[in-house]
Amino acid sequence: MKVKKLEINIEEYTDFEELPDEYKKLLKDAGEATESSYAPYSEFHVGASVLLENGVVIKGSNQENSAYPSGLCAERVALFYAKSKYPDVAVKAIAITAKSEHFVVNKPITPCGSCRQVIAETESRQDGKIKIIMAGQKSNILVVEGIESLLPLVFQEDSLKKK
Ligand SMILES: [Zn+2]
Repeated sequence: MKVKKLEINIEEYTDFEELPDEYKKLLKDAGEATESSYAPYSEFHVGASVLLENGVVIKGSNQENSAYPSGLCAERVALFYAKSKYPDVAVKAIAITAKSEHFVVNKPITPCGSCRQVIAETESRQDGKIKIIMAGQKSNILVVEGIESLLPLVFQEDSLKKK
């Protein structure tokens, strides 16, 4: 038996102004996307913005449902819409943020496990990494270069094939 150690690089920005302009804009877009959230149950409004290779930004927000599992996270709303509207255009980056009706979100919002799996599939399909920018309302901002930093040992489509 041997132990494998993973090394993960996470950029951390303590000041919004430190961010490269491209990330600033994308995070602002994600913040705007929280306005279209439908979250009467959690009262937690998540926004995601997806930057495509053609420069288009697609925004999404969480859409809840009284049958809870029928709702969908902001990240997947944005990514699925991007794939539907621009099926052949690669995703370069996704920014995620949130606001609550009851407290200040002081931690960066990271994608849930299901959204990480969808980001992984998107990367695999386009054979290119997706930068992930994560922020709260009053928080540091985290940036990773690709999903493997958030989802090591990912299950991917080649696992379904006979080797
Ligand atoms: Zn999610």
